[in-house]
Amino acid sequence: MEKQQWHTLTERDALRETGGDAKGLSRAEAVKRLEQNGPNKLTEGKKKTLIGIFFAQFQDLMIWVLIAAAAVSAFAPLLSGKSLELADAAIIMVVVILNAVLGTIQESRAEAALDALKEMAAPNAKAYRDGHLVKIPSAELVVGDVVALEAGDSVPADLRLLECNSLKVEESALTGESVPVEKMVVTLDDPGAPLGDRLNMAFMGTSVTYGRAGALVVATGMDTQMGAIAGQLASTEKETTPLQKKLNQITNMLSIGVLGIAALVFLLGLLSGLLEPLESFMTAVSLAVAAIPEGMVAVVTIVLAMGMSRMAKQGAIIRRLPAVETLGSTQVICSDKTGTLTQNKMTVTEISTTDEALLEAAMAHCNDSVLDETGRAVGDPTETALIDYLLKNKLCTDEDIRNRKRAGEIPFDSDRKLSTVGIEHGAGVRIFVKGAPDVLLSRCGMTSSAGIAVEKKNEEMASRALRVLAFGYKDVQSPNFSNVREIESGLTFIGLVGMIDPARPEAREAIKTCREAGILPVMITGDHKITAVAIATDLGILGGRDRRVAITGAELEAMSDAELDKRVESIAVYARVAPEHKSRIVAAWQRKGRIVSMTGDGVNDAPALKAADIGVGMGITGTDVSKGASDMVLTDDNFATIVLAVGEGRRIFDNIHKTVRFLLSSNAGEVLAVLVTTLMGFSLLKATQILWINLVTDTFPALALGVEPAEKDVMGRKPRDQKVPFFDGRAWMSIGLVGAAEAALAITAYFWGGGGALGSTMAFLTLSLSQLFAAVGFQSERHSIFNIKLREHKALWLAFAGSTLLQLSVIFIPPLRKLFDLVMLTGFEWMQVVALCLIMLLFIEAQKLVARIRDKD
Ligand code: ATP
Repeated sequence: MEKQQWHTLTERDALRETGGDAKGLSRAEAVKRLEQNGPNKLTEGKKKTLIGIFFAQFQDLMIWVLIAAAAVSAFAPLLSGKSLELADAAIIMVVVILNAVLGTIQESRAEAALDALKEMAAPNAKAYRDGHLVKIPSAELVVGDVVALEAGDSVPADLRLLECNSLKVEESALTGESVPVEKMVVTLDDPGAPLGDRLNMAFMGTSVTYGRAGALVVATGMDTQMGAIAGQLASTEKETTPLQKKLNQITNMLSIGVLGIAALVFLLGLLSGLLEPLESFMTAVSLAVAAIPEGMVAVVTIVLAMGMSRMAKQGAIIRRLPAVETLGSTQVICSDKTGTLTQNKMTVTEISTTDEALLEAAMAHCNDSVLDETGRAVGDPTETALIDYLLKNKLCTDEDIRNRKRAGEIPFDSDRKLSTVGIEHGAGVRIFVKGAPDVLLSRCGMTSSAGIAVEKKNEEMASRALRVLAFGYKDVQSPNFSNVREIESGLTFIGLVGMIDPARPEAREAIKTCREAGILPVMITGDHKITAVAIATDLGILGGRDRRVAITGAELEAMSDAELDKRVESIAVYARVAPEHKSRIVAAWQRKGRIVSMTGDGVNDAPALKAADIGVGMGITGTDVSKGASDMVLTDDNFATIVLAVGEGRRIFDNIHKTVRFLLSSNAGEVLAVLVTTLMGFSLLKATQILWINLVTDTFPALALGVEPAEKDVMGRKPRDQKVPFFDGRAWMSIGLVGAAEAALAITAYFWGGGGALGSTMAFLTLSLSQLFAAVGFQSERHSIFNIKLREHKALWLAFAGSTLLQLSVIFIPPLRKLFDLVMLTGFEWMQVVALCLIMLLFIEAQKLVARIRDKD
């Protein structure tokens, strides 16, 4: 079967061709087909293997410089008639290989974390299996499956439509046309019709913006039109975050500086006759390798990736890495009410009508929820609440619900705030409409006094935090459901139904946390203003000391941008909004230079989600389209999870700061120690000793700082100002000072040891151990480590102990000691080394103390 011909077949022929049935496949058949034809996925570009990642570590220039240096150190002695010298070369090669192994472990862990996240974000589809509509991973769809589509879904495979209700599909991914196309069930003649004209088809990768449909899967995976175009999807390109870019810049800048210094050290060593040319060259190379922070960006990537995994476990799936960084600086969280701040568990608590039988019929028919096998109503909570009410009070039976039939429908959308169905009634059709009372009343012919009475009742119910729905009806002969305005007017009012949706218990606490963290919570809802105010007050969004107010979407519309800019900071609640309003709210905050997070679940929320600094999608109730537009998706749809994620974002940012500060100050210590001693005319450390220090201190403590727990006051301070650079003057100063202190201590140790092999050994130990002590001090940038609980910092203490052991092993294991040209210390000399390292820790604590005092003023 030529795949481009599906649109020329009738529905029945299409079903026959696929061996399918309008009721869908059986589970067994689906499993068989999946095995035969493979999953419904576009194949990705080749994945890097572990070996590949390992060899990629050698793409770094510095590694080759080191390997060249190893070769030079081995063969150069031959030139002056001496024998081959393998010891140093061996150490260098061990360092090179260890470096590559560590790099591989880090990178593969980061990749694994990112892959796991991709899996979590994999899309689902609704398909009929064994006669029931079930949610399955889109990858499991097979040709012959029958799927259900509704507004907000992304089309999971290539489909031939079987039935369709005002279906509109946005196909820009395939055709470039961004205006949604209205689809219909027809049979087309032209086999070569362009994709955009195949009105009876829906294609993988496009998205449903309106309406509903049932459709037959005719092609999956690489057989789809998308597959044909995409060929092989290049393995998704890695996005670099602004911070990673910044750190790359810092690395490049420092590399140039370090290379300059290394060249200087080489020349000085050579000219002063202090070192043999070979030794001088080796020292310069080792110094360059040790001091260039080439691993920094890799460590930061790991920290980000591990942070992402942790956030996923807490219910926040990050879809774009840069969001992790931005999250921490969020200043405003705009949140939907229903389901995010509340539980989305609606229960009807009040009915107000003069014709109960008619209202009950309207509640049952004008309702998209269905009963599952167990007789439980499933669907939109606003609608299941109505069915639950009818069944619980025995106002109808399961059979009544199962046997409902429709003559036509106009689905709910949050712009119209109405939903409509038609059912056969006598010779004609009875139209039932339900929706927001203010909208519905305007469509009813009613005397003004009756209208006012209903409005009063509505407001009274809303003030008790109830969501209120109004119902209306009319009888007509042959309705045209595509004329929405006509169908939904001239109605007769039936009654009101009030339902309660309790606030999430944890939301109140989360809002308090927001306030302490300097973040403004803003509630946005489609509900009535009075309902919204009642809930916002209960949650603490309204009524705080900031004296903010609630406005409606209509009031917002009446404001110019300039007016909105003036008022936006004083508005805590937006009620009766349409999704388009969200984009305006985001834009107004952004004009104020604020970092805004915005939640959304519907198709029409996508633009606001994209525009927001952090678009937050809903994992449970969100549409595919809204999730696709988000930076972060909540698996539990819970406001409190956003606040938690902001805290995580702040923690991760803090930790990256600590890690980078540690790495750079250690490198500064190494450079300064070697540079100063060379200028003073002696050689402090041997090339291999420098390399070893760098290997031991750079990796473990740096990573451990990256996974530090949050500081106690992460959510007690104001959001970080994004305009402040990653490292301000004070941070650079502190890096310089710590580096200088390390160098000074190492040089002191050298002199205490009386120079020579003993001096070098003491300097070697002091330089490396003082770096480890500094790492301990860097645990917190502000708080004294004497107030920090040891138990909570396991990773750091493990890294400290492990690195110290490695460091000591080269002294205590005789062959290694010889290899590194070290000597054994006496007890007194050990005490001297430890004393110097403790001075390092005190020095860092003193810096923090000064910072704390200065900040208090
Ligand atoms: P929030 O914006 O707080 O998440 P929401 O998204 O549930 O709230 P909408 O779904 O836009 O808000 O609902 C707005 C109004 O439309 C409701 O107050 C209600 O009156 C009406 N409404 C909601 N659901 C339906 C429905 N299924 N059929 C008819 N009317 C509805």
